[in-house]
Amino acid sequence: MFNLSSLPTTPSEPRHVKVLILGAGPAGLSAALYAARADLQPVVLTGLQIGGQAALTNTIENYPGFPEGVGGSELGELFQKQAERFGAQVELDSARTVDLSARPFRVVTDNGEYTADSLIVSTGASPNHLDIPGEADLTGRGVSYCGTCDGWFFKEKKVVVAGGGDSALEEALFLTRFAASVTIVHRRDALRAGAILQKRAQENPKIKFIWNTVITAASGTEKLTAVKLKNVQTGAESDFETDGLFIFIGHTPNTQLFEGQLEMQNGYIKVDDRMHTSVAGVYAAGESADAHFKQVVTSAGMGAAAAIEATLFLEHAAA
Ligand code: NAP
Repeated sequence: MFNLSSLPTTPSEPRHVKVLILGAGPAGLSAALYAARADLQPVVLTGLQIGGQAALTNTIENYPGFPEGVGGSELGELFQKQAERFGAQVELDSARTVDLSARPFRVVTDNGEYTADSLIVSTGASPNHLDIPGEADLTGRGVSYCGTCDGWFFKEKKVVVAGGGDSALEEALFLTRFAASVTIVHRRDALRAGAILQKRAQENPKIKFIWNTVITAASGTEKLTAVKLKNVQTGAESDFETDGLFIFIGHTPNTQLFEGQLEMQNGYIKVDDRMHTSVAGVYAAGESADAHFKQVVTSAGMGAAAAIEATLFLEHAAA
C-alpha cells in the first residue's frame, strides 16, 4: 500500500524574485507595471481582494482616461493585463508572514515561500463594518462604504450615513450633491469630526442628525429598504426607511503583518515622499501607507513611485 509518510518531507526551495509586490489593487498593479517595464520581472501576490477596494466599486468615474467611467473590477483587470504585458506575474496567493530583518526579505505565503531583493507593500485598507444583520448581503445593493464612488446612484434618494468622524461628515456633505436627504446616525450626542466640517454639515439643509443611536440591522430583499435604529439611552427601537446606508466608522489599514518590522503611524506604514519605509529596499504605496487621499489615482501614483525607487535601489545594490 502507498505510504504517505514515505514521501520526502523537505520543503521546496523559496522562489527568489527581484521585486515582490504584496497586494493587487491600483497601487500594487501600477508598481508591477513600472517594475516590469524596468525588466525586473515582478511578482504580485493578490491577497484576498484582487483589484483592491476599487474592484468593489460599481463604476469609477474619477479615474482619468475613462470619460464615460469604468467598472471597478474592469479597471483592475486592465491594470493587470497591462502589467502582465511587460512580464509581471500575478499570483493568487497571500502573504502569511514576512521577515524584513535581512536581505533578501523572506515572505511565507499560503502556497509557498519567496525571497525578494526588494518589497513593495500595497496591501490596502479595509473599511470597518458595523457587523449587523443584512449588511453583508446588501453591500452593493444599497449598503456602501464609499460616497465618492456610489453617491451618483442615489440621485433624489434618501440615504443614511453611519459615523460621526471627519469621513462621515465629508462623505455626507458629498452625498448631498445627489441625495434628496442625508441622515447621519451617530452613537453619541457629540461629533468627533473637526469644527469646520461640523459647521458645514449642520448648516446644510439636506442633512439631519439622529443622536445617541446605533444601527442594528439593514433590511430589504432585492435592495436595502430600511435600517433598524436603537437609541442607546432609552433602548427604544424603530425602523427608518432608506434607499442607502453609507458606513464610515473608520478604516483599518492592512498592515498587521508588518508590525514591529516597519515604522508605523496610526496603523499606516510610515513612508517618506519617495515611498521609502523605515527598512531600505522596502517601499509602501496606496492605502496601507496613505491616511489622507485614498483615491485610485493617488494610489496608482504611489505605486509607480515605489517601483521607480525600488528600481534605483536594485541598481545601486548591484553596482
Ligand atoms: P474616525 O475619526 O475614527 O471616526 C469614526 C467614527 O465612527 C466616530 O465618530 C466613531 O464614533 C464612529 N464609530 C466607530 N465605530 C463605530 C461603531 N461600531 N458603530 C457606530 N459608530 C462607530 O474615522 P474617520 O472619520 O474615517 O477618520 C479617520 C482619520 O482620517 C481621522 O484622523 C480623521 O481626522 C481623518 N480624516 C480627515 C479628513 C479631513 O480632514 N477632511 C477627512 C476624512 C478623514 P465615536 O466618535 O463615538 O468614537
